[in-house]
Amino acid sequence: QTTIRTLGSTQVLTDPASVVKELIDNALDAHATSLAIEISNNTLDLIQLRDNGHGIPPEDRHLVARPHCTSKIGSEDDLKDIGRSSLGFRGEALASVAEVSGSLTISTRTEGEQVATALKINRQGEVTGQERASLPVGTTVKIVDFIKSHPVRRQVALKATEKTLKKIKQLLQSYAFARPHVRLSLRVLKAKTDKGNWMYAPKPGGNAEDAAFKVVGAACASQCTWSVLEEHGFTIHAFLPRVDADPAKVSNTGSFISVDARPVTASRGTAKQLMKAFKEALRQAGSPLQGSKELFILLEVQCPRASYDANVEPAKDDVLFEDPDIAVAAARHLFEAVYPAKQP
Ligand code: ADP
Ligand code: MG
Repeated sequence: QTTIRTLGSTQVLTDPASVVKELIDNALDAHATSLAIEISNNTLDLIQLRDNGHGIPPEDRHLVARPHCTSKIGSEDDLKDIGRSSLGFRGEALASVAEVSGSLTISTRTEGEQVATALKINRQGEVTGQERASLPVGTTVKIVDFIKSHPVRRQVALKATEKTLKKIKQLLQSYAFARPHVRLSLRVLKAKTDKGNWMYAPKPGGNAEDAAFKVVGAACASQCTWSVLEEHGFTIHAFLPRVDADPAKVSNTGSFISVDARPVTASRGTAKQLMKAFKEALRQAGSPLQGSKELFILLEVQCPRASYDANVEPAKDDVLFEDPDIAVAAARHLFEAVYPAKQP
């Protein structure tokens, strides 16, 4: 019963950045280690992600874009643990994309198959055609004419092109930190310059520090230091500007927070409270960093089992903690250790 109710929450995807996020989550859930995104310069004509994950098994293909179909839940118990085992389980991202787009094609090949299969999918999410395709193991999702069926939303989206492309780049950066072993690339097609293109190529194994050097640059990363704190089952790894860091070098980069390797948006929910605790610690320490805009901070929060629900927010950029105060207190203690309060 619970399963049906939870999966019943529907949401229509209309923002290209949210679509990219859903595609990334699917690729990561398929254990991909390389994700290549191509998007047209207006963010609507084409949105494509190619991954090297395990592909979609032939027996699942007819259901891939049907509403409420997911391969990620076997039992009700899975629902409780889903925050760890997968990035999404609502089974509606692809169905929603199919419904509003001009066309959706999913090409996929599993280990052991000689060729890939390109599936043509209609608005109802049904597979209407299959063709052989020559692709390596993995999955490519190709969306053409996104939100074709919503002319008003289309107009709105076309006005926000620059903003959307920036949002996608920030999204990719946050995944580089949350999953530093995964290769990511973004190509903006038909753009006048290649300024919008972006890439993160990890060194073998990849780690968050490597990601920091590559994503925000050595000037910033070399001003930072690691600290770790364990409290009430939570473990927090933080890469933070040192007390004596040069404020100019560690600002204007943004904040990168992940919960169990799932990026969350720093301006919302518990992540917002974590940021508040960070700023409060800087204030109490009388740190020269406190005036800086978009100060660099990298926080990786590892949580005890079943301490939050990651599927409450439609945008999946926030998690709902059973008791957010515990995580926030742990972070506060870490910040206070890194930035000791000035003695009065
Ligand atoms: P959900 O991710 O919530 O299950 P989606 O609509 O995003 O729902 O995807 C539906 C199903 O399609 C997934 O459960 C998964 O089995 C399959 N799938 C989607 N994208 C991929 C991919 N890149 N690689 C492998 N399987 C995929
Ligand atoms: Mg999904």
